[in-house]
Amino acid sequence: MSDTHVIEQVIASPDQDAVDGQTTYCVGCGSCAYLDPAFRIAKSVDGCYSVSVNGQVRDWSAVERVCPFAASTNEDELGKELFSSQTGVQHNQYLGYFLNTYVGYVQADGWRSRGSSGGLVSWTAAKMLEDGLVDAVIHAKDGPDPEHMYTIQISHTVDELQTGAKSKYYPVEMTEALDYVREHEGRYLFVGIPCFVKAVRLLRREDPILNERIKYCIGLVCGHLKSDYFAKAEAWESGVPLDKIARVDFRHKTPGSPASDYAVEVRRTDGGQPVIKRTAELSVTNWGLGYFKYNACDYCDDVLAETADVTFGDAWIPKYVSDGEGCNVIIVRNQDVLNLFERHMDELVLHDSNADEVYQSQAGGFRHRRQGLAYRLHVHEKRGEWTPTKRVKPSLEGISEQRQIIYAMRTTLKNESFVAFREAVDAGNFDVFIKHMRPYEREYRHTSIPFQKRVLHKCKKIIKQCLQIIKHR
Ligand SMILES: Cc1cc2nc3c(=O)[nH]c(=O)nc-3n(C[C@H](O)[C@H](O)[C@H](O)COP(=O)(O)OP(=O)(O)OC[C@H]3O[C@@H](n4cnc5c(N)ncnc54)[C@H](O)[C@@H]3O)c2cc1C
Repeated sequence: MSDTHVIEQVIASPDQDAVDGQTTYCVGCGSCAYLDPAFRIAKSVDGCYSVSVNGQVRDWSAVERVCPFAASTNEDELGKELFSSQTGVQHNQYLGYFLNTYVGYVQADGWRSRGSSGGLVSWTAAKMLEDGLVDAVIHAKDGPDPEHMYTIQISHTVDELQTGAKSKYYPVEMTEALDYVREHEGRYLFVGIPCFVKAVRLLRREDPILNERIKYCIGLVCGHLKSDYFAKAEAWESGVPLDKIARVDFRHKTPGSPASDYAVEVRRTDGGQPVIKRTAELSVTNWGLGYFKYNACDYCDDVLAETADVTFGDAWIPKYVSDGEGCNVIIVRNQDVLNLFERHMDELVLHDSNADEVYQSQAGGFRHRRQGLAYRLHVHEKRGEWTPTKRVKPSLEGISEQRQIIYAMRTTLKNESFVAFREAVDAGNFDVFIKHMRPYEREYRHTSIPFQKRVLHKCKKIIKQCLQIIKHR
């Protein structure tokens, strides 16, 4: 492999645990394809975007410098370059550079009810447009057909922006949007998950046009990105046949229940009523199991989009999760964003937060992407396999045997979910998926959840079922 370019190793890496298309560290963002047409982005058989090389590459090292999984520049270095010279800036190993942290929501004009959590992403983007900080916003919106439910597009007005609210747990890529920016002068805001924001920051260092035009980045906290199998599986398990799925709203709010207890809304192609189903009733939506996860996400150590000017996530911490309307956790890194909040404070409810509270809101994600990543890197190192260079180093230090088993099982759960879904599609029966995954899931739960907790869960489930029976008598 010594003559192989780093980006070729990103594209196709020998992962012995992986299945078919899941052998790549590529997240399919498209930063390479923006620089060089020899790189082409397409959806794999696993419903994930990834890149292939077709033709003569102009400059391998330039392309490697803009790939979030090949670049030698890490999030700490980018963050330092971007934010460290501001007065009052702090640094934290989880949050990166930051000026302030909050928990809050938008109280004006339905932003919160339209949004996934507190509505602050769409609102902040709208205020940037209205205040003249930017002319347009690059973000994910409704796509043209069921095979492309969501794509990255450009909004020029607040009305256009509003139609793009809510989280898209769905594969997207940014080549078309970036080509648009290259061809159209203006000042742009980019909205994206951490690896996409990192890619944009790297591209800005390489490409003077993007450097000039992309003025700000909003980051979304990220657990991981999903293959399009996730949307299909959610819809199918909700009762909509595969050929009748038009679009899935991944974050349908259910009034009166905790913010974490949301539903999916599946729109149909046959004109039938949309189906709404609580995610708690679906087997595929437990994020801890990591079904249909991009392989690359297990090799990322940036949960909080450390290179974004401001990052927003879900404030699922005991103090706020009971508010079913939804609250954001907020990390501000750029003084311009603090100034914007100040100017429009009458439209917001913001509580001061701190690094510890922000960490706690994503504690599970951090364990998996820091300690879990050290474990995964160690496993690959032992096998003599290449992995992307991360801030986290390969190690088993401080990782109990039980945690090692849990991390190994998560890789299996991820890989098997793709196999199981393909089997279910071939059989035309979603139960095939459930049956395939059941033994893996059971084993995982036995390892990861203490005995007393499992018994308590079981009792709660039985009581709930009894109450349902009594109610329907
Ligand atoms: C793949 C993914 C994983 C996530 N994981 C977590 C997590 O583990 N923990 C957590 O706290 N939060 C996570 N989030 C963020 C969370 O789901 C909300 O997006 C966030 O709290 C903002 O809510 P809001 O109400 O302020 O945003 P809204 O007002 O609803 O606006 C959302 C904005 O983000 C844009 N957008 C949505 N999805 C994408 C996308 N895939 N690419 C580019 N732009 C997009 C929309 O176009 C819209 O402009 C994740 C988001 C995504 C997309």
